[in-house]
Amino acid sequence: MALLYEIRKSPGKGKGVFATEDIEPGTVIMEESRLMHVQKIPYRALTEAEIHQAFDNLSTPDKARFLALHEGSRSYPSKIMRIYMNNTFRGASENFILLEISLLNHSCTSNAERDPQMEDESTENLLAVKKIAKGEEILHSYHGSPFSATTKVRKKLLQTYYGFDCDCATCNADAGPRATSDMRRILLGALLRRIECFGPSDYSLIDFLDSETADMLQSYIGSSGPKLEVETTVPEYTAFHLMAGRLLEAERCLCSNLPRYYARVGLGLLRQMQEMDDVIIVDSYAMLRYWLGEAVRSSALVRGSKSMCSKDVLILWQEVEAMPELKNASQALHLNRTGRSRGSDEEPTFAVLNERRKAGGEEYYHMLEKEHYLQLVRGELTRADLALEADMHALNVQGDEGTEKEEAELVGKVKGSGIGKKKGKGKR
Ligand SMILES: [Zn+2]
Repeated sequence: MALLYEIRKSPGKGKGVFATEDIEPGTVIMEESRLMHVQKIPYRALTEAEIHQAFDNLSTPDKARFLALHEGSRSYPSKIMRIYMNNTFRGASENFILLEISLLNHSCTSNAERDPQMEDESTENLLAVKKIAKGEEILHSYHGSPFSATTKVRKKLLQTYYGFDCDCATCNADAGPRATSDMRRILLGALLRRIECFGPSDYSLIDFLDSETADMLQSYIGSSGPKLEVETTVPEYTAFHLMAGRLLEAERCLCSNLPRYYARVGLGLLRQMQEMDDVIIVDSYAMLRYWLGEAVRSSALVRGSKSMCSKDVLILWQEVEAMPELKNASQALHLNRTGRSRGSDEEPTFAVLNERRKAGGEEYYHMLEKEHYLQLVRGELTRADLALEADMHALNVQGDEGTEKEEAELVGKVKGSGIGKKKGKGKR
């Protein structure tokens, strides 16, 4: 198969990698083996002797390719060490070199991302995360993605470690949009750290970073703040992933994290609903479906609809859809929507209380007004106060989808029961 890319001069950047045809998101642009493996040893920096040993193990052509890579601007006396430090990738247990992927230039809003192959950990793929037009430069982020630091911090890191002034579209934006982008990235960073129960990243030493202090300060720059004593609650977990996903999209930082975050919003909502025990909130169910839909949409956006990632998200969706309590709620939701779509200006029904009746094993749903539902949640009212058994309309929504006529009858019953009338009626 013809290569999807070519290596040629990139204005102001030396060499660069360019698309030779239109590339769809999720396409594997490059596939290459890790070279120069060096095992990581906790709390100890790699020595020059270890790097030289790894270099000596390369084949003659690979040695030549390695020596043609960019040296960056670190102040090591040996060229091999400078090239290694400028181009090394950090895996979980080892550092390694990718000769081809190292030829890519950087963008803070890249169009490709590195993706370790699941079945073979010694091979790495470079995947398109956006549509890349023929002739367009293929760029990835040297910072890793998503990278949640301000323009100033990103520029300083790139200048210190790689020796160039980033002029990507994000760094080069006008002052207004750049300030917005910086704010988004700060917020994104804080949310992602908070989900892991850490304070925001600490960049307070950034002004002290120069070629002399570069590797001395490396482990301190951007280190997470203190471990927080307060655990992240389920509603926070849900909301923070939701915001993180939206911030990534607003920043055009498309990466495999995007569908992952939206799927977690769905799962967080599901956990919240399950913790509510016998209460199914119609709007929550609608939201659950919406966010799983967002996971499917964004997965197709960054990986293509036929990708493994998209298949995983679809499987999750199908599993959730198949859950019996949600299947029932979906029918209640359908009814709820029907009520609204027929021109009703009344307050829409908000919650459905699920009551499982032992006799006959049938399920009944009590539809509640928003105000009553909130009072119930706040503990201001009990189910007995609402006289659910005696007064509320019990609605059996189990079984097959109703016909149009049956549906209309049900809607009529709901309206007749007074449910869905304007607020301020007081408890029944
Ligand atoms: Zn940039």
